[in-house]
Amino acid sequence: MRAIIDKLYKDQFLQEHELTDLLYGLKPEEESYLFAKAQEIRTKHYGKKVYMRGLIEFTNYCKRDCQYCGIRASNKKADRYRLSIDQVLDACVEGERLGYQTYVLQGGEDEYFTDSRLVELIEAIKKKFPKAAITLSVGEKPYESYLKYFEAGADRYLLRHETASEELYNRLHPRMSFLHRKECLNNLKRIGYQVGAGFMVGLPGQKVEDYVRDLIYLKELEPHMVGIGPFIPHKDTPLGGETGGTLEQTLILLAIIRLLLPKVLLPATTALGTINPFGREKGLQAGANVVMPNLTPMQVREKYSLYDGKICTGDEAAECRRCIEQRINKAGFELDMGRGDHKEWRGRDVY
Ligand code: SAH
Repeated sequence: MRAIIDKLYKDQFLQEHELTDLLYGLKPEEESYLFAKAQEIRTKHYGKKVYMRGLIEFTNYCKRDCQYCGIRASNKKADRYRLSIDQVLDACVEGERLGYQTYVLQGGEDEYFTDSRLVELIEAIKKKFPKAAITLSVGEKPYESYLKYFEAGADRYLLRHETASEELYNRLHPRMSFLHRKECLNNLKRIGYQVGAGFMVGLPGQKVEDYVRDLIYLKELEPHMVGIGPFIPHKDTPLGGETGGTLEQTLILLAIIRLLLPKVLLPATTALGTINPFGREKGLQAGANVVMPNLTPMQVREKYSLYDGKICTGDEAAECRRCIEQRINKAGFELDMGRGDHKEWRGRDVY
């Protein structure tokens, strides 16, 4: 197995059958070798730096019905909210005070936020914080809408592909298609966004072969960022009684992604921190280099409930910032409050 890991380290590529062998055959004692190799590559490109993004969850209304997600349209128990432009700006002001230079605006697919309202929101943030990077994460939209947001000043877009296994994708996403998800990701790249894809680990019925498809898809797409985290059941969804993903499997996949895409921006996600008290630290030690502390106003924080047990819903933004800094330092890394663009990013004007 070490030979396969060495090959991945050297070539930044593995054949389908090699990835399958690696995922099936990796023994616990070989895991630390994989993590060490991933660390080495991450250190080579980004040193010990961990980039911080301020996450603002600005609406939990959603027209979609993803089977795993707590804010799906059919969940009548979800207590819905949306922030006003002023509330989002206030969250950014607090973010700036704490040193953030990048804001991630995430939400459900909320029809209240038409293109013109989103453009207004992006322009308002850019006007007040011209140097900050804005990341959007609001789901599938037509090409023209993505273009409008980009022209208004959005710099990055997170749209996890969720799973590259078409059959599994279609089962989990009623009235959606994997083909369209891929088309959206291609459009975002073409427009010139720094793009984030990614998937969940431990979905009901997800197998090694499905992860292999995820890895191959990511290698083909070459996104700037990859967000992966364990699936965690939410009690008020059809998958509420299922078992969630594990720390071990997620860490292995993080490390493989670091080796496949050496310069990728790779978050240690909140979901990883939720299934294990040191999940995010372990994620960093397996090759991750980004964290996304929460800047969502306290009064609504708990309502952005994608899965049960989500951490950090009770802490003020300042407390989150302090806590994560201590954790990062203790784990042997350094905070970087810069914009944290991808290493090969040449700026938005070249497009
Ligand atoms: N509407 C946006 C944002 C989705 S929420 C979009 O479509 O991109 C952000 C991410 O949370 C999703 O992409 C999904 O991967 C993750 N997520 C949702 N429900 C989850 C669950 N039960 N467990 C773990 N992750 C979940």
